[in-house]
Amino acid sequence: MQPLYVLSGNSERTRGGDAQSSNIRAGKAVASAVRTTLGPRGMDKMLVDSSGNVVVTNDGATILEEMDIEHPAAQMIVEVAQTQEDSVGDGTTTASVLTGELLAYAEDLLDDDLHPTVIVEGYNEAARLAQEAIDEQVLDVELDDDVLASVAESSMTGKGTGDVTADVLAHHVVDAVRAVHDGSGRFDPDDVRILTRTGASSSATELVEGVVIDKERVNDGMPRTVEDAAVAVLTTKLDVREGEADTEYTISSVDQLEAAIEAEDAELRGYADALADAGVDVLFCTKKIADRVQDRLAKHGIVAFESLKSSDARAIARATGAKQLGDVTDLEAADFGHAERVSIRRFGEDELTFVEGGEAAKTVTLLLRGGTEHVVDELERAINDAVDVTVAAIDSGGVVPGAGATEVAIAEYVRSHAGGVEGRKQLAVEAFADAVEAIPRTLATNTGMDPIDAVVELRSTFDREGIAGIISEGRTGTIGDPIEAGVFDPAAVKREAVTAATEAATMIVRIDDVIAAK
Ligand code: ADP
Ligand code: MG
Repeated sequence: MQPLYVLSGNSERTRGGDAQSSNIRAGKAVASAVRTTLGPRGMDKMLVDSSGNVVVTNDGATILEEMDIEHPAAQMIVEVAQTQEDSVGDGTTTASVLTGELLAYAEDLLDDDLHPTVIVEGYNEAARLAQEAIDEQVLDVELDDDVLASVAESSMTGKGTGDVTADVLAHHVVDAVRAVHDGSGRFDPDDVRILTRTGASSSATELVEGVVIDKERVNDGMPRTVEDAAVAVLTTKLDVREGEADTEYTISSVDQLEAAIEAEDAELRGYADALADAGVDVLFCTKKIADRVQDRLAKHGIVAFESLKSSDARAIARATGAKQLGDVTDLEAADFGHAERVSIRRFGEDELTFVEGGEAAKTVTLLLRGGTEHVVDELERAINDAVDVTVAAIDSGGVVPGAGATEVAIAEYVRSHAGGVEGRKQLAVEAFADAVEAIPRTLATNTGMDPIDAVVELRSTFDREGIAGIISEGRTGTIGDPIEAGVFDPAAVKREAVTAATEAATMIVRIDDVIAAK
């Protein structure tokens, strides 16, 4: 009989236990790459890509993204971090470490001859229990500014901001979110903008109530400050109309040449005059503005900016209530937006433009300062996380104690319910509890504590006090109450970490056949 070939001769196939263990090893390896960065005493990674660009970061999602990971199972951990980043914006290291631990314990269970399906069922059951445990941990606190600032600060510590600065920055973040959050549970992330500038220390970071753009006026003769400004946003160039400039004039006399130039001039003047007649004070244009138009705008006392990024134009339009205009004919007052003040300020070498007090929507800009590019880049990642967690705390389900305390409580809860789970599945449920405990264990290790002693003490303190976390103090850590220490995480971060890690780990465990095209 002819053999039946399903696969091309080029594909490589790994089956059964080999497939499983290779996937699990790959997953564990990726998780362990980020574990040393967890928590306030976590270390940073320096990542250098093939063209020599350097990124220094403590952010799990960023590390995994930059690491150029090829193994398909390892790639799934990268996806866990990405899911976590996209859905709640923080807790990426936690989610990756948890996935790695779930895989490590699964490996032991497989060695003990538990069937993958039993492990998957046990993990899913335990994940459900973990969500119940998180429900119990949610703190019934008013989300006043102090608690929110603690949440924001917890998300930033260890991100190279320094403790004092983290406190100042956390308050800026909360003020920013509070300023734009409309109270109805709706938050538009575009309303908190972030702009980075090197050349000052991060404590010089400021919160601006308005939009700040990295643009200078097109002409130095234009005013630097306009109060009570009518603002126009234009998405078309102000130049001689397309085609005309290239038209070959058949010019037979000097008169004709002059007439042609005069016609062009008149067209260009017409643009500036139309804007002036309509009462525009400030013009933001996403395309080029011809020199002759610029001069004329300056004569009218209009401040103009050209070649804006479309995201900047959109933000200004939204904040001031301006329409984005496709041309300057038939301008009406309703097309314009309004700002209390448009001003230009010098920052070191260059100038930034501030559009403050827009009348249509609250928009704020965090103007981040730092000594070097690397510093502001890492600060921007930290601030992004902090904004996300603040929003998550306000919008979706409150806050839980941080510093590993919630994980200790989850582990205890899951363990105490494991007895009710029938058969060998129970072993998987217990393993899940041990895996969750890896978070406080890792926090302990990263603060220089002995992880085994720490876990023992965490458990006994939890039994006694009902709460126990790894509080980092100066260079070392102690077992204590994170609520007293003001360390909180949004409940959503923990929920998502449990869900994402369980999904990825169970998916990897279920695979027993890898067919790879070469
Ligand atoms: P992730 O990417 O998971 O957010 P982080 O490096 O930001 O990783 O570490 C988050 C963990 O650090 C959380 O468990 C949080 O509760 C904890 N944490 C934050 N601040 C402190 C602190 N001052 N003391 C102890 N733990 C803290
Ligand atoms: Mg974090």
